[in-house]
Amino acid sequence: MRLTFLGTGGVWAAPVHGCTCPACMAARRDPARARGPASALLEVAGLRLLIDAGHADLTTRFPPGTLDGVLLTHFHADHVLGLMLMRWSMAPKLPVWCPQDPKGFDDLLKHPGRLRFQTCAAGAAFSVGPITITPVALIHSRPTLGWVIDHADLRLAWLCDTRGLPDQTAAILAAQRPDFVALDCAYPNGTTGARNHNDLDEASALLARIEPQDSRLLHLNHELDAALMATPTHLPVAWDGEDVVIAAPSAENGRESAS
Ligand SMILES: [Zn+2]
Ligand SMILES: [Zn+2]
Ligand SMILES: [Zn+2]
Repeated sequence: MRLTFLGTGGVWAAPVHGCTCPACMAARRDPARARGPASALLEVAGLRLLIDAGHADLTTRFPPGTLDGVLLTHFHADHVLGLMLMRWSMAPKLPVWCPQDPKGFDDLLKHPGRLRFQTCAAGAAFSVGPITITPVALIHSRPTLGWVIDHADLRLAWLCDTRGLPDQTAAILAAQRPDFVALDCAYPNGTTGARNHNDLDEASALLARIEPQDSRLLHLNHELDAALMATPTHLPVAWDGEDVVIAAPSAENGRESAS
């Protein structure tokens, strides 16, 4: 399995227009520190699946025939914007697996064009070729699904956008021990007010419970990036363009040998 992060930022992306915080200034100096909307390309068993679709230029990034489907976590703009144009493609129909959310985003569900929306329910696994995909419930401001993807003894879990996890989801993941987890972490610790995303402590606690072999935090906002510039975290943080190969654990570095 190969996962390429196309975007690792939140709804604000980064640099934020007009912001002079250290993270946004650094992102202007070094484009490698900029963050687009949270999204990734998963390549597995000869298939290419897009996880979330917030990039507005999807139609130029992915010429006809280069995608086998889209796994859509939810219908917030930073996760679906690219579908507004992609639906008018003249290429063969593109499956889009998504949660049940009748309001969706703008008129996407009413006028899906070439997109073939397929509603999924938490726990109802389905197959795409040799891959098994299991939707899991997340906790967000509108219906949102995480995706657990299994192929050939490898398991990846994409858990974004969410604040915490329903206990049942956390228990399933802790029992399954995914090889790789991509987890929502938008805020620095101490962020007050109503939130629909993890802060660093919440993300850390979830990873400690699930104990994946490897992980990345994503959906970071600029305030978290600024905080991490001052005080780095031991948790791996994803960056746009980063490529992760998910492979079976080696004998020396495997789950069995971890103490
Ligand atoms: Zn989001
Ligand atoms: Zn900023
Ligand atoms: Zn969201």
